Amino acid sequence: MIHVSATPVEPANWQNLLASSITDPAELIRRLKLDPALLAPARAAGREFSLRVPEPYLARMVPGDPNDPLLRQVLPLGDELEEHPGYVLDPLGEQHANALPGVIHKYHGRLLLIVSGGCAVNCRYCFRRHFPYEDNNPGTAEWQNALAYIRQDPSISEVILSGGDPLAVNDRRLAWLVREVASIAHVRRLRVHTRLPVVIPQRVTPALIDALCGTRLPVTMVLHVNHANEIDSELGLAIRQMRQAGMTLLNQSVLLREVNHQIEQLIDLSEALGDHGVIPYYLHVLDQVRGAQHFHVDDAQARDLVGRMLTRLPGFLVPRLVREVAGEAAKVPLHVSLVTA
Ligand code: SF4
Repeated sequence: MIHVSATPVEPANWQNLLASSITDPAELIRRLKLDPALLAPARAAGREFSLRVPEPYLARMVPGDPNDPLLRQVLPLGDELEEHPGYVLDPLGEQHANALPGVIHKYHGRLLLIVSGGCAVNCRYCFRRHFPYEDNNPGTAEWQNALAYIRQDPSISEVILSGGDPLAVNDRRLAWLVREVASIAHVRRLRVHTRLPVVIPQRVTPALIDALCGTRLPVTMVLHVNHANEIDSELGLAIRQMRQAGMTLLNQSVLLREVNHQIEQLIDLSEALGDHGVIPYYLHVLDQVRGAQHFHVDDAQARDLVGRMLTRLPGFLVPRLVREVAGEAAKVPLHVSLVTA
């Protein structure tokens, strides 16, 4: 398999890699030697939700293959512009749970901080692709309000750093925020939901690890990997560093048509995560966000796939199949029965 070579970016630190991400569909198509006919729909769909692909992620795609499972996650398609009943701007009703700028408080005991509206990659299926990040870009005063909100609610035992991607902010800001959260006695755990180490493994540095792990709080890092091809040696190294620092590593994936909806793809993904000591935590069915309906896999097929995984893998490598439902008290598990191949 020949992979596209990355354009050298000097020096290859994560900020430079982030800043040099591909945002022009013409460049993506040229670099991957794809059919130029893909350009017009990519430009049209990219006007609603822009293209963004960092070089280290591009380097794992196969040139000339329009069906590459990593490319499918990032290339804007004309399908995104079709209207489908039930596919809406805010499928999870998060704008109602947006307690304060930068704060989403949906579930008992856990609270989510929108640390950054930016992501290192724009995933076409993202349920927050229409989220009003411009209203959730807290400055210091807003952060003090968010921290005061946590302080006055002793039921909050876990704080989740989310986004966008929380690791898109610099280490100094992260370290400050983590220290402030750790100073609240009733907070017992810190969780980080991120895709940045997957698409730019160079994001995992000693300074990041110090920022996250430098307090009393145990840290759980929830990665977002959808396909085994996303796990290369650089991501493997980043995972090893995080594990050595004592973080618990979990993964959540989204079940996506033409990306990972085949049983062998899901098995390969779980095996590859297991090889690196990452526990597959959730497999989400697609949130019905406008523009993503072409990724839909129906519930019967989703249940069948996970039923097959149960008979092929050890239990700890089978993710829980869940759906997020606006207003529910937690993610809703989909019932799965064993399916023998
Ligand atoms: S990294 Fe996460 S938040 Fe950002 S676009 Fe992808 S799925 Fe959405």
